[in-house]
Formats: sequence, structure tokens, C-alpha cells
Amino acid sequence: MRKLLLPLALIALVAFPFVAQSEYLLRLVNIGIIYAILAVSLNFVMGAAGQISLGHAGFFGIGAYTAAILTSGGSGQLFWPVFLLSGVTAGIAGLIIGVPALRLKGHYLAFGTLGFGEIIRIVLYNWREVTRGTDGIGRIPSPELFGFEFDTDQKYYFLCIAALMMALWLSHRTQASKYGRGFAALRDAELAAGTTGVNVTRLKILAFVVSSIIAGCAGSLYSHLVGFISPDTFTFEVTAQVLSMVLIGGIGTTFGPVLGAVFIIGLPEVLRVSKEYYQVIYGAGVAFAVLFMPQGLLGLLRRKTATQVPSIADGGAEDEISITDPAIERLRSPELATEAGRRDRVMLGIKDLTCRFGGLVAIGDLSMEVRAGTIHALIGPNGAGKSTLINLVSGVYARPAGTMTFDGQAVEENTSWKLADLGIARTFQNLRSFSSLTVMDNVLVGCRSAKPAGWSAVMLDTAASKNEEADLRATAEAALRFVGLWKVRDVPVSALPHEQQRLVEIARALAMRPKMVLLDEPAAGMNPTEVERLITYIEKMKAIGITVLIVEHNMPFVMRVADRITVLSFGKKIADDVPAAIRAHPDVISAYLGKRGVAKEVQNAVA
Ligand code: ADP
Ligand code: MG
Repeated sequence: MRKLLLPLALIALVAFPFVAQSEYLLRLVNIGIIYAILAVSLNFVMGAAGQISLGHAGFFGIGAYTAAILTSGGSGQLFWPVFLLSGVTAGIAGLIIGVPALRLKGHYLAFGTLGFGEIIRIVLYNWREVTRGTDGIGRIPSPELFGFEFDTDQKYYFLCIAALMMALWLSHRTQASKYGRGFAALRDAELAAGTTGVNVTRLKILAFVVSSIIAGCAGSLYSHLVGFISPDTFTFEVTAQVLSMVLIGGIGTTFGPVLGAVFIIGLPEVLRVSKEYYQVIYGAGVAFAVLFMPQGLLGLLRRKTATQVPSIADGGAEDEISITDPAIERLRSPELATEAGRRDRVMLGIKDLTCRFGGLVAIGDLSMEVRAGTIHALIGPNGAGKSTLINLVSGVYARPAGTMTFDGQAVEENTSWKLADLGIARTFQNLRSFSSLTVMDNVLVGCRSAKPAGWSAVMLDTAASKNEEADLRATAEAALRFVGLWKVRDVPVSALPHEQQRLVEIARALAMRPKMVLLDEPAAGMNPTEVERLITYIEKMKAIGITVLIVEHNMPFVMRVADRITVLSFGKKIADDVPAAIRAHPDVISAYLGKRGVAKEVQNAVA
């Protein structure tokens, strides 16, 4: 039955304009398709990349006016080059908007883009020499190809369908590729995306530019369809309508926006009897959809299947890889493989690092060294500055003062994905999984190929792109097997218990082939069996040459695994020594451990 669905749909698509006899209906459908393209484009930036944009009427208008200005009164053959040019001008506007928008998030971004849309509308009204203001621009020719004119709605329909197919294909290929995973990571947990090596800036700009190119092309289609345009068409109402299409259809899905367009454009036709109530019904409908169907119509249509999470009570032991497995090389930085003998060098060096939050000194003049290939623990009471230090080293916070070296190189970089590229990977104290992705896809976000395929290769799904994907998957498999999660690879990460999501973060970090891994309280919430397993993983990391900096409260655990311990209190280093000496350190016992009982626990652990 499903097999028949696609051919039937295609036949229906092709037959429609010949069956539909009413010019009105055909015009409505063509406008609907153009809006669907706009919705696909908005979904690209909002659904896929999670960046709210309320300026879409602006990009649509720029595309429409580019086409109108350049072809008005001219030949229909101009349509083709100008169609592309409309995409380009809107794309440039997207770039101009995208760059400052990088600094804005959430509501601020929404307002910023809303302002952009308004500015475009005002320019269209007032730049009379070019746009002819309220008079509008007419005599926009019908497209012409080898003498064939697309001069009726019936003919134009096929142009619109072709453009919609292209937009859908672009959106689908993007979502199915490494770019789609990057977008999802950006949307679900931007900080973690950055520290996992995703170039957040580039992806955001890419999302804005591609989205506005598509919107610009839709604008050009619109101009040539209606033949006359004026600024009244490109108001916020367009944006609001397109936004409802995306929300009602299913944000973040490939076909949802199209479904939403059918609904929003079709609904007023069905509701015609009560035209005066239409606005009310429409508004209530959108509110209902947003409140009660977060997945949109497409989410309702999809069969709900409860996720079966395979049990990994045995820790997935049979799937685990040992350090002698050749696949382990996929996780080991090539630089570590050749330098295993130089374990004594300094991997991370920090000097006079200070970080303030208002009046609070979270880290004060801190200097410390972490030696390569060791497990270095960072302990201290709550609020001592441990997580802040990890955030500074991984580029989540900018380093205001102090110097940092990594593997012998001075580090000027403050950007998280650049630090990730240097070989610094991390996990988070508060889980930051890419919650809409599967376990496998979470880990894949961290994987990099030695031969990355370019954007066009990925869109065309060439052999090079397929090879890259296979390579990335093999690395992700090694990382998942490292921590015994192979069995749950296809489960949505959010279906896993928290302790296992922590392991997913570790696998994601290992997939980056890091030189150093920063673990912020990885054992939080784990039972003793799980902690034991975690210890074996951390020791396995050390065995393959990875330097580990671990923040942990579980003292027996720390005393067992750590080669060296740094103790922080109120942002100051109060001790830095081997575990046996830390146990006996009077300052540590009084300042940090305080209570006798804890001190005793520490002593027992080391004894
Ligand atoms: P911990 O050692 O428990 O990980 P943190 O590094 O999280 O401690 O916090 C150190 C101090 O800095 C705390 O007093 C905390 O409230 C403060 N702090 C941490 N991050 C921020 C922030 N982003 N803004 C303001 N204060 C912060
Ligand atoms: Mg902390």
C-alpha cells in the first residue's frame, strides 16, 4: 500500500491542473505552493537550526522586487537568470542579517528579525525611484523557455511544483546529513554543540543564507505569477501566515510545512460561509495547534510507537571494545599515538587565570598544570569554581585574564569549537545531550572525517559524501562500544536514564579524538556498579593516552583513580599533590573536607 502511495501522489500532482477547470482554484493552488516554499524556507532556519526569524516577508519581498525591477516590461526569457539573482540578493540580505543575529538569541532574535522585515517594507514604500512606492511595479512578464510561455496558471503550476520539489529536496538532504545533525545540535544545546566542535557561527549563517535564498526565489515566482506587485503584499501578515504553516504542519520536519500550507491556504475556502468568523477560527486554530500539537499535523499522522530501550544492565559488556581492538585507533588522536612515550609533558597549563561574575571572584589568580596522559582530579566544595574552570578551558566562558597553554602551544583562542579542534573535549555537569537525536546521532555530532565532503557533495549525496558518512559512523561505533552503549545506539537519547546520558556525553567527547577530556561530575546519580564501570572507562582513556581532568565529589572514587589532585576553595588553589598527600593535607581537611566523617572516608579510601 505504501509503495503505491508515491506513484499515486505523483499522478495526482501531474493530473491536477488538467482536472481543475477553475482559474480561481489554480491561482489559489499556485499561490499556496509559493507559500509552501516560503514555509519550507522558514522551517530551514527555525525548525532545523532553531533560530527564530520573523523577517521572512522581507526576504520574500527582496526576491519579488529584484525580479520585478529587472524584468518589468522585458522579455520572459529574463525570468531564468533573474530567478537565480533574486535568490542571490535575498541570500545577501540573509547574510547581512545573519551576522548581527548571531549575537541575539530567543526573543531578541525574534525582535531583531521582525525589525528587519519592517525595514524592508518601509524601504519598499519610500525608495520610490527604484520601487515606485505605493504605485507598485507592473508589466512583469510571464516566464518563457524556448518559445514556450508559462502564461496561464495551468502552465505556471508546473514551475511552482518544480521549485517546491527543489526546496524540499534541499531541506531533506540537509536534515539527513551531517549538516542536519549540526543544526539539531545547535537547536537542542548550543553550548554543547560548540564544545563538540560544531562551528556554531558558520552553521547559523548557513541556515540564514540558505533560508533567505529559498525565500527570495519564492518571491521571484510570486512576481512573475501575479504580474504586478506593491509593498502591501510584503507585510508581517505574510510572515505570520508562513509561521503558522510551519507550526501547524510540524516544525523541523521535511513535509510538515507543505501540509501546513495546504491547511492554512485551504481552510478559508472551506470556511467561506462564515467569512467574518474566519479570523477568529484561524487564530484559535493556531493557538490550539501550538498548545496541543507541538509536533504539528505531521506529528499526529505519525504512528506513535513507544520506544523500546534495550537493557544494558550488563553494561553492554559483550559489545565493549578493549584497548587492543584496532577500532580504538579511531578514537585516539593521531598525535597521541606517536607521542605515547612523552607522557611527562604538560598537557594543560594555566597561569594567573581569573574569572569574576560581578563582585564574585569565581576563579582567582589560579595557576595549575595537568600532565599528559594522567588522570587529574579537581575537587573542592560546591561553588569552589570547578565548573567555572572547565568552562574557561573549554571556551564556554571567555578567559578574561591569564594565559593558557595546551600541549605545548600558547592558546589565544576563546571559541569553543576551535578549542575542540585543538583536542579539548568535555562533558557537562548538567546534562547537555542533543535531545531530539538518537544516541548514535549524538555521538556522530562529535565525529570528524579526515576527508570532509563539501556542501555540494553532501547535497548531491556523492560517493565522497557516502564514504565520509561511513567513516564517521565507524568512529561513532568505536566510541559507543568504548562505553558499552552500542546496544542503545538507535534509541532517542532522551529515552535513556540520566546516568546513561552521561555516558553518551563521554562517547560524544571520545568521538572527537581528543587529547584531553574534561569530565564535570560524571558519576553524579550513578549507583556503585555504574561507578565501577565508569572507573574502567576512565582508566581505558588513560591507557590510550588521553589526559583526563575530572571534577568529582565521590572521594573514594577520586582517591582511587587520580594521579594527582588539585583542591579549589573559593576560586583559590589550596593544595595540589598526589592523593596520599592530599589525604593528609591539613588545609584540605579543614577547608574542604571540614567534617570529620568525610575526612575519615578519604583516609579509608587511600589506606
Ligand atoms: P563548582 O565548584 O561547584 O562547580 P562553579 O564553578 O559552578 O562551582 O561556581 C563558582 C561560583 O561562581 C559560584 O559561586 C557560582 O554561583 C558562580 N558562578 C558560576 N557561573 C556563574 C555565572 N555564569 N554567572 C554568575 N555566577 C556564576
Ligand atoms: Mg560544578
